[in-house]
Amino acid sequence: MSIQIPRGTQDILPGTVELWQHVEEKARAICKAYNYKEIRTPIFEHTELFLRGVGDTTDIVQKEMYTFNDRGERNLTLRPEGTASIVRSYVENKMFGNPNQPTKLYYIGPMFRYERPQAGRYRQFVQFGVEALGSNDPAIDAEVIALAMGMYQSLGLQKLKLVINSLGDNESRKAHRDALMDHFAPRIGEFCSDCQSRLEKNPLRILDCKKDRNHELMATAPSIVEYLNEESKVYYEKVQSYLTSMGIPFECDANLVRGLDYYNHTVFEIMSDAEGFGAITTLSGGGRYNGLVQEVGGPETPGIGFAMSIERLLLALQAEKVELPVEQSIDCFVVTLGEKAKDYSAKLLHDVRKVGLSAEKDYQDRKAKAQFKAADRYSAKFVAVLGDDELERGSINMKNMTTGEQEEISIDSFVSYLQERV
Ligand code: ATP
Ligand code: MG
Repeated sequence: MSIQIPRGTQDILPGTVELWQHVEEKARAICKAYNYKEIRTPIFEHTELFLRGVGDTTDIVQKEMYTFNDRGERNLTLRPEGTASIVRSYVENKMFGNPNQPTKLYYIGPMFRYERPQAGRYRQFVQFGVEALGSNDPAIDAEVIALAMGMYQSLGLQKLKLVINSLGDNESRKAHRDALMDHFAPRIGEFCSDCQSRLEKNPLRILDCKKDRNHELMATAPSIVEYLNEESKVYYEKVQSYLTSMGIPFECDANLVRGLDYYNHTVFEIMSDAEGFGAITTLSGGGRYNGLVQEVGGPETPGIGFAMSIERLLLALQAEKVELPVEQSIDCFVVTLGEKAKDYSAKLLHDVRKVGLSAEKDYQDRKAKAQFKAADRYSAKFVAVLGDDELERGSINMKNMTTGEQEEISIDSFVSYLQERV
């Protein structure tokens, strides 16, 4: 039997890859506008980084990591997300010492999680995300949210829902945590084994459980909003007023809890409201993580970020029937008639390509008719016809496929002719 692609992964073939390129270009452009710089970190890291940086009570760490020993007995993990690596790099490269603060970074790259594959859920997927490290200004929370929303909107998505919440600062979180423990402890036996171990380690995560979501204690659980101290409340209100002033609609949801262990203050998710989007409606999520840099061994530094997968973004575009303007055509196809013309066309194409125009010719020994068909399949903007006779006269026939116009030009002006017209 022939070898097949691993479960939960995909080949992105020509014809589709142009969509990816378009989306990636948009991401880079929007990051430029917001002054976030690209960072590229390794695909694998020491496993310890994710135990600390993602948190050992999370699904990611408990169930989803691709972990292995290399030949030198190092315990490594294919990165399941981007934040931990960026924080590691931030600390290792002492970016906190750079005069430009906050440190604003973005990444686009593959992540790996051992999950049950379904639409919008893969074992290898591409995340675009940003992190802003070193500022406690609620305006940066709003900026990060605005960037994520702007990304979707600039691609033409309209059916978006932004949900925000605050998990408060450490004091608020601790008060809430105690209340959650009191709430769940007496009946924790009725919950799944994951929730039972979450009770002591991080009871907040019980609220995020997919198995026990319908248990009656879930609906009556103490809400974080009741436990926010004055400072946290003011912070949360500030984020909201920035969003309002930017004209970004949002909903507050006191039950929104995010996966990572180190979130505090602002957390948010962006969902698709599009019909037919399927069971998974979350397009992206993010939040503030003021304890994370310290956890990874750096100085106490506030941070905030989000991540979105390109896969879910493309699904949302499909659900909203948005067609991306992707260029599939080439500038010129050279049809040759005769041996001399065929030989000469190699040099001719080389000249065109050198100036950055796209050009193609026949390499299959096709007859003229089949060459014209090929030009058509490539959606060539110009079709040049070169026969041995024309070559002798130093000329070439040009056909503009948009207007239908034809003319014979000097072969020496071939490149400049195309440059002026495409
Ligand atoms: P979910 O609840 O859907 O599992 P998550 O909380 O695990 O999401 P995050 O870790 O916050 O997701 O990742 C941020 C974003 O990355 C998600 O909102 C989603 O767009 C995307 N994402 C996460 N896991 C996958 C996956 N397996 N395949 C495709 N995209 C994913
Ligand atoms: Mg997940």
